Amino acid sequence: MMNRRDVRWERMFPDELEAAFEERPVVYLPYGLCEPHGPQNALGMDALRAHSAACLAARQYGGIVAPPCYWHVHEHGGEGVWAWPRIGERRPWLTAVPVWMFLKNLFYHIRAADALGFHGAVVFSGHAGPFTQDIAQLLAIVQPRLAMRVDVLIGIGAESAFEDDKGMGGHAGRGETSVLWATDPDCVDLSRLPPPDAPGPHFALGTLAAESDRRAGERMVAALVARLGQMADQLLADYGRTKPTHKPLTFDDVEDIWDREIRPLIPEFNAMQDLKPGQEPPPQDSRWYANWRVRYRG
Ligand SMILES: [Zn+2]
Repeated sequence: MMNRRDVRWERMFPDELEAAFEERPVVYLPYGLCEPHGPQNALGMDALRAHSAACLAARQYGGIVAPPCYWHVHEHGGEGVWAWPRIGERRPWLTAVPVWMFLKNLFYHIRAADALGFHGAVVFSGHAGPFTQDIAQLLAIVQPRLAMRVDVLIGIGAESAFEDDKGMGGHAGRGETSVLWATDPDCVDLSRLPPPDAPGPHFALGTLAAESDRRAGERMVAALVARLGQMADQLLADYGRTKPTHKPLTFDDVEDIWDREIRPLIPEFNAMQDLKPGQEPPPQDSRWYANWRVRYRG
């Protein structure tokens, strides 16, 4: 393994990119958004830890890390329904776009990596949500048109490393907080947690956050980094076995595939569905009411 000055695409010189590509033609594509994660975590939690873990994996196993994308799906459909009781009417500091914008961007990001000649791409979204199965649907359509092999990881990416069975504490709970504490320690500050009996909501704070543990986070990050390395190995093995010869997609090709095959599916995408049984819509006077039931107009 070569000695790397950097693995972040945007900070590498062209000779470094060529050398890294030659050694291991794998790209990591990190995603997340700025979203409430309790008072103790920086807003960019999901992309921060995805990007940092991808950089650790590239340093350890090789590969190149694409610029992280901090604009992601939120605020409509199930996301808005989820948000209002957990965040309330506070300014949420979201960097949200609707699902069709995100998916089209993702399609273009993947196209660019394939056209550059990468053999494998690991899409890693630290942000999880109803759009997860929509990404799978997009890839089912796109993968057969690519030479590059693509795999996707969503969420934390590692099992709990706590030595009890109380779990991770959900969104902005002790699991997520501990992982960010391990990857980006300046972005976690437990002294900002509310007192245990303070009435909520607390900016989408999960449970058990006071039991966040940096060393448990480090164990989860180690498992995550190993997993990212294995995903890349598998993609390279698949590419080597199939020896694909597709021509790179053009912008025109992307627009054609989008119009003919993806656009008609958008109203049915999971992220476009609003209420599940037992869920309540945001109240009409809530800031979450405006977009929760957005309709795609094509
Ligand atoms: Zn998160």
